[in-house]
Amino acid sequence: MPQIATDQAIVLRTVEYGERDIIVTLLGRETGKFSAIAKGGKASRKRFPGALDLFRVSEVTFRTRRSGSMSMLTEATVLGAFKDLDGSFDKIAVASYYTELVREMVQEGEDGEQAFDRAVEFYALVDAAADDPSTLELLLAQGVLRWLGHSGLAPSLAGCYRCSVSVASTDRAWFFSQQGEGALCSRCRTHGHRVWSVSPQALTLMAGLDSQQERGLAAAGARTQVRKVLLGLARCTLGRELKSRTALDLVFDSDPAGPR
Ligand SMILES: [Zn+2]
Repeated sequence: MPQIATDQAIVLRTVEYGERDIIVTLLGRETGKFSAIAKGGKASRKRFPGALDLFRVSEVTFRTRRSGSMSMLTEATVLGAFKDLDGSFDKIAVASYYTELVREMVQEGEDGEQAFDRAVEFYALVDAAADDPSTLELLLAQGVLRWLGHSGLAPSLAGCYRCSVSVASTDRAWFFSQQGEGALCSRCRTHGHRVWSVSPQALTLMAGLDSQQERGLAAAGARTQVRKVLLGLARCTLGRELKSRTALDLVFDSDPAGPR
């Protein structure tokens, strides 16, 4: 028997289906990740006014079917939007990347509450942030790192994950394991271990991303390394690059303050 359910949700993706319909992938706060078809969604601004756009918190009503078949979205109303985010290409690029990361990392059937709250919090941070690439670059890095941490994949940042020597206490060169364990000192690096080179400054910045003071002090070179390592880590964790990476590279690699 079909059942009617209501939940708060954000849109993770929309795909046009046929002439009139839209298939929408949602992250419901209680429902978790699921897909639903919005019949007539392409034309019906009345039933779904703006609620099928990205970066909205909406109340959605949908009819669930037996397991394995798609739900039907019957109504959606926007509860909250992020105006500054909507108005900035750079902010949209950052929030799109984060949204795609969530979509790929959350599985259907998993609890959605934490992922939902984290995503809404991230949109609010991006919305309120200064609209300049250096601020957004660190916010994105923080979002990705937090996501990895919540997924049980927090990398070692304060010291070498093998010998535990701290970043501050040695003049060894530093690397970052592409398998995600974290910082690796030059003595522990073995032949064939896939790594990125990182500076001690970049590791210190990565460890201090939650501190506004650390973020304010960040040099452009360290910032760029942090972004490249964390986006690389997301790619290695998922086994492929996210599509929205292309737009991100337009934002950051054109940043005049950053190295090429
Ligand atoms: Zn070591």
